[in-house]
Amino acid sequence: MKLSKDESSGQSTIPQPDRHSALLLVDPQNDFFPGGAMGIPEGNNLVPVINAYIKHFSRQGWPILATRDWHPPNHSSFTEQGGPWPTHCVQGSRGAQFHSDLVMPPGMMVISKGTNPKKDARSGFEGSSLADRLEDLGVKTMYLLGPATHDCLKQTIEDACKLGLQVILLKDAIGISEDPLKEISQTGALQATASDLKINFPTN
Ligand code: ZN
Repeated sequence: MKLSKDESSGQSTIPQPDRHSALLLVDPQNDFFPGGAMGIPEGNNLVPVINAYIKHFSRQGWPILATRDWHPPNHSSFTEQGGPWPTHCVQGSRGAQFHSDLVMPPGMMVISKGTNPKKDARSGFEGSSLADRLEDLGVKTMYLLGPATHDCLKQTIEDACKLGLQVILLKDAIGISEDPLKEISQTGALQATASDLKINFPTN
């Protein structure tokens, strides 16, 4: 892994991605963008940034994976079933589709979670094939982004750390604000932005 110094601040040392790295898009689905059941404000501003990261990884042939919340219609996390969330990301629905302005690369791996009606899966690793996929690919460092809730991101990061992965949270491509971000920093994940990865932004 190559380390590079962030010239602008002169302090953070962010590992640059290499062939043992993967980009993980956490739940970039319509229901988490404005207009969706659990849409975050300003979420559409993330789309060009996410696309820049996708381009950076796909150009190098580094793996890109996306998790998706993929619930049956009677999922236990929905309020009508006594759960905490409005109905969202129902299998096959428009809300469950990826945001249509995201430029998903061919061959991107899609990992479904939350498919068991009785269990919620906040982490992308819970009850999914994500850990196996990453192991098959020889991934050691995971770069993570997405409009998912604070809980989803945090649980995903914690599970990744437990598996011995290094996690870099791409904080200019997530939907959560400063305070929850501070809490997430206690998980051991590093935080980076596009400029740390030498991504010229905006790209076209
Ligand atoms: Zn869900």
